[in-house]
Amino acid sequence: MENQEKLVLSIQKEMIQFNLKRMRTVAWTLMYVSVIIIIIHYGEVFFSKTERAMVPAYIAIHTILFYIDLAVLLFVKEKRIQVTSLNFRKYESILLSYIYTILVLITVITVMDVYFFKHAALYEVLFLLICVIFSIPFLKIFWIALITVPPILISAYLSVGVSSESIKILLPMSLIIPIGLVIQRHNYKVQRQFTKQHILLQEEMIRSKNLSKLLAEKNNELSEQALRDTLTNLPNRRAFNNKLTQIGQQLSKPKSISVMMIDIDFFKNFNDYYGHLQGDEALIKVAALLDEIAEKYNAFAARWGGEEFVIVSQHAAKFSEHVCEEILEEVRNLNIRHERSKVADIVTVSIGMCHVKISNIEHLKTCCKLADQALYTAKQNGRNNFYSKNENFDEG
Ligand code: GH3
Ligand code: MG
Ligand code: MG
Repeated sequence: MENQEKLVLSIQKEMIQFNLKRMRTVAWTLMYVSVIIIIIHYGEVFFSKTERAMVPAYIAIHTILFYIDLAVLLFVKEKRIQVTSLNFRKYESILLSYIYTILVLITVITVMDVYFFKHAALYEVLFLLICVIFSIPFLKIFWIALITVPPILISAYLSVGVSSESIKILLPMSLIIPIGLVIQRHNYKVQRQFTKQHILLQEEMIRSKNLSKLLAEKNNELSEQALRDTLTNLPNRRAFNNKLTQIGQQLSKPKSISVMMIDIDFFKNFNDYYGHLQGDEALIKVAALLDEIAEKYNAFAARWGGEEFVIVSQHAAKFSEHVCEEILEEVRNLNIRHERSKVADIVTVSIGMCHVKISNIEHLKTCCKLADQALYTAKQNGRNNFYSKNENFDEG
């Protein structure tokens, strides 16, 4: 119901907007016509020997018409018109007042024409034009016809009477009025239907646009999620592989790379003693710390799997060793109790690092393997330490 009302309101708004544009076109045309007629009448006053009746009245009415049209053009500027649900009644009144005023003025001219010159063409022509040009409800135009036509007919009767001759002239002319009304009715219906379709189409377009936006957002969210580890929120193994591919693709010349494999010491014992939930918490804390350190050194940290993490950075060997030391110390500083560790009473990690100058993606993969081997050595060397390998891949 509410939607229906909104639609009706939108249709009314659009129709008013459409009619206002037409009103400006009509105002331009009528303004020129008025000027021409005024000039012709002045010409008659100055040059004609036999003076026509009522010339000053004609000039006066056309001058009024001219000023009304000028006012419309000055005050109803297309660019300034913003028809909204609040102001559309105001614009509708302006429009109707304009149509009524010009028809009333034309009625006056017509009555004068009929009375003095026995013809009434101007009213019918203008009435028909208004019916064709504007799309306003049938009843509104019907009422104006009902008010303006009788004076013309009465003046016609008074001036020419009802003779077969006059009926021959008046009948075809007055037929234009019902024809105009039929055109008006049809015109309004078609325009209304067109506007409705237009609005529905626009709404549909906005809806589908919003839907695609939402879909794109959800898609992005999903692909983000697919690259994140759910427990620690660190990039996962897939994201790490993507990172390696990206580094591999950007290799235009040999590049320094350090891969660090970080593994929590005696973590199985930790789980056994404290339970898996607390194990998860410890993993989250270590992960957050590694992420922070990686960010600080512009490196990339990911969860390799289980209680193992990996950091890849593009720093020199010496610098990477310094980072390893920092990691060992900061993990100890987390001060997570670990009663069942055989190297300390807090959680510690061991790190295997491999530093290489790589020139292709295969080197990168080998580097990861070597870091894993280095980790094994670090474990063998007593844990809570790091072991670093420096490799030099020969060309080829
Ligand atoms: P080491 O010092 O040699 O690395 O000993 P470790 O016990 O840490 O190594 P091991 O590979 O034997 O055990 C790893 C443990 O990590 C086993 C598993 O229960 C635990 N683990 C792996 N993933 C998760 C996890 O997501 N949450 C929890 N709480 N524990 C995990
Ligand atoms: Mg492990
Ligand atoms: Mg371990």
